[in-house]
Amino acid sequence: MKKIFLILCCLHFVSFLYASNVFYANGESTKKQIALTFDDGPGAATEEILKILKDKDVKATFFLLGVSIQPKKQLVKDIYEQGHQIANHTYNHFNFYKYKKDDIHEKMQEELLKCEQLINKIIDYKTKIVRFPHGFSRNLAKQIAKENEYIIVTWSFGCDWQTKLSRDEMYEQYKKNIKSGAIFLMHDLGKNKKVVSFLPQLIDDIKKEGYELVTINELLNIK
Ligand SMILES: [Zn+2]
Repeated sequence: MKKIFLILCCLHFVSFLYASNVFYANGESTKKQIALTFDDGPGAATEEILKILKDKDVKATFFLLGVSIQPKKQLVKDIYEQGHQIANHTYNHFNFYKYKKDDIHEKMQEELLKCEQLINKIIDYKTKIVRFPHGFSRNLAKQIAKENEYIIVTWSFGCDWQTKLSRDEMYEQYKKNIKSGAIFLMHDLGKNKKVVSFLPQLIDDIKKEGYELVTINELLNIK
């Protein structure tokens, strides 16, 4: 009897976790919308990327990292004031797939909230969306997101960290993955010359194929 009760409790907890969507890797496949996302910044490529987005009149989402924000607070304001979405990429970029200590729950929450507090000191905005480093999205991540009223958003395609790819190969890979509901992952930390060089072209391709470029909130219909 006790066992059945325990199983029912576990099932109840699991259904609680998944009762409302707390995790997305793409938007709806029926809407011709795509979201560009940039991780780990603000960084050396942010200004150039902002300029491209402005020239092309599109909005993107920036998953900011606490340690990157510290020396580049003005860029956080610039991103926000130019109408892009700010999201949370935690403070230190710990790889929680490799974190083996017992305090992982507390550590993840601390990382999430420390980044949030730093952003809140610069702009009046609650991020609501988190992408844990390396796309960590196991059940614990979902539980923490839920407890703190966040939604986890990973990506449907990304390859800009693969240094072995040439600029053209990288561009072709992104181009091949243009589809409804796609979430593209790129990085604005470091110079990221390859992305900066093909981004205008990629945006034109996406538009030419009849897609609208939107923020994560728009893609996922989050108010
Ligand atoms: Zn990252």
